[in-house]
Amino acid sequence: MKRENNTRGLATRAIHEGNSEGIDIIPPIYQTAIFKHPFGAQIRGRELKYSREDNPTVNLLEKRMAGLEGGEDCLAFSSGMAAISTLVMGTLSKGDIILTSKEIYGATLILFRSLEKFGIKVEAVLNERVQDHIRRDTKMVFVETITNPILKVSDIPLLIKVSKENGAIMVVDNTFATPVNLRPLELGADYVVESATKYLGGHNDVIAGILAGSNLDQIWEWRRNLGGSLDPFAAYLVMRGLKTLKLRVQEHNRRAQEVAEYLEAHRKVKRVHYPGLKSSKYFETAGKFMKGFGGVVAFEVEDGEKAQKLLRSFRLIRTAPSLGGAETLITHPASSSHKNISPAERKELGIEDGLLRISVGLEDIEDIIKDLEQGLDSI
Ligand code: PLP
Repeated sequence: MKRENNTRGLATRAIHEGNSEGIDIIPPIYQTAIFKHPFGAQIRGRELKYSREDNPTVNLLEKRMAGLEGGEDCLAFSSGMAAISTLVMGTLSKGDIILTSKEIYGATLILFRSLEKFGIKVEAVLNERVQDHIRRDTKMVFVETITNPILKVSDIPLLIKVSKENGAIMVVDNTFATPVNLRPLELGADYVVESATKYLGGHNDVIAGILAGSNLDQIWEWRRNLGGSLDPFAAYLVMRGLKTLKLRVQEHNRRAQEVAEYLEAHRKVKRVHYPGLKSSKYFETAGKFMKGFGGVVAFEVEDGEKAQKLLRSFRLIRTAPSLGGAETLITHPASSSHKNISPAERKELGIEDGLLRISVGLEDIEDIIKDLEQGLDSI
């Protein structure tokens, strides 16, 4: 069953999907824990009683996100990790095998490995090998559209096809792409998760997560019992961000492309990872199913020392571990997100000591490039 308004464009849906016919143009924040419930009435699943279960502000965000992802149902969570952990707790059982990529977000991989104590097995392989490992006994395939930090693009249509052939549940973490660049549910994925902390919220001021799919009643039960529901004010902030999602993501795509091309031509840059570059091995495949390549670019300078020096030289670009907001942010994975894995493992994942990851923001592109230029001149 398609949602009624799915014939509307994405930007229109991001502003209007789920709005009632009432007087509200801007959604009210239902800052309440409880709702009136008739004495003796039978409690029937998803109806308003208590905000850990449901809240009208959060429900509106859920309708809007279902519309944006092209799903029938959506649940909002207190973080991207709450969405992922509730999904796996709600769908996997003892003896199940979850197949994933070694390059997924670190906390997700740690979470999956910690499920081994409940008898759930985890198989983590290099991103480009995932399709070769899907078997009849694979219960769930979990991949990210674009991996971090070296921006490999997963062949989502192929993975969906092979997962279906083998009866596996296909989950896509679409955080780096957003529904503007890819809508995995429309291609046949079973679930899509997003850290709404990134592009959906878009302003680096809210932590939230989204899960979309078809009937999520069972996951809803797990959410209410695990308790990772979203706060109504956070839901309001995500909806405020969503109004400009399409504009922002298109601008992030465009600016990241310019930054990638600038860096690729710079003599002090050894290598640039960005799927939108013609030199990228993902350019052709990704171009077939994605509308844009996202706002994150990774590049390598000579060594770790030069990378650290470069980080310290920036005047506009800030060092911080997130992405997807208006501010241009940079990280040095070898000394931050990937510090605790061995040098051999880092090498396997393509994380050189001189690698930097930049989340290209919405400042004037000339200013971003000027800052990169003065930084690169200084090393
Ligand atoms: N998935 C990806 C791809 C991420 O990058 C992150 C966070 O960086 C998460 C999930 C977790 O999201 P959150 O920080 O909102 O819990």
